[in-house]
Amino acid sequence: VVIYLFFILMIALMSFSLHAGLRRQKKLEQGLLENNREICALNTELEKLSLTDSLTGLYNRRHFDEMIRHEWNRGLRSGQEISCILIDIDHFKKYNDYYGHQAGDKCIKTISELLKKTFRRAGDMVARYGGEEFIISMADTGEEEAKIAIIKLQLALKKLKFEHLASDTDDYVTISAGLAIYKPNKNFSVEQMIRDADKALYKAKEEGRNKLVVHIPETTGSWDRVKQNNTI
Ligand code: GH3
Ligand code: MG
Ligand code: MG
Repeated sequence: VVIYLFFILMIALMSFSLHAGLRRQKKLEQGLLENNREICALNTELEKLSLTDSLTGLYNRRHFDEMIRHEWNRGLRSGQEISCILIDIDHFKKYNDYYGHQAGDKCIKTISELLKKTFRRAGDMVARYGGEEFIISMADTGEEEAKIAIIKLQLALKKLKFEHLASDTDDYVTISAGLAIYKPNKNFSVEQMIRDADKALYKAKEEGRNKLVVHIPETTGSWDRVKQNNTI
């Protein structure tokens, strides 16, 4: 009987320690799973941070440069046009000097929100390209559609009446825009498209600001025409 009881006790002890071990293992696995989830969430957050600009939440220049290449290659296959827009706030240095740097940041944020609202189609991509400069690409979009979007943006800004008493152009904040439309082709490059948009923006500044200037390249690579819209 003693031996029998001893065996029962041993079996009970063994099963107890086995259960305890299993419980510990389950707890450990749960902990690992939780850690894994936290690492995944942190990775997603880090990835988001590496793609976006902290002030505006828009894509940063690095990410834009990467994505526009994909868009260009897609255009090469599909033969569809891409519109590339560069936008720059007018007399922004004077804005900072007059209202202070923090107010300047607020102004950049406001313009960013307008950009997000205006360019929200699936093929649109908006990024902060420099201090007070923004870049937009619109996939499968030709001149008319892109112009309408820019006009909408200018009108939305005009409606805001964002005071800028130090501006030489208006009593309110204004922006200038350069637009280049390209049908991706092996003879052209993304860099050329952005350069053209930049040249158009420069022209808009030169001609008084608060303007949109459009550049359209010919198939040979030179410019077909330079179009100007007066103040919108
Ligand atoms: P233009 O009409 O020709 O564009 O003149 P501008 O004064 O806007 O252009 P400029 O390039 O001379 O000045 C840009 C200013 O933007 C200078 C810089 O201090 C300011 N800036 C750049 N990044 C930021 C930012 O993140 N926050 C603020 N508040 N200012 C910035
Ligand atoms: Mg500026
Ligand atoms: Mg600038």
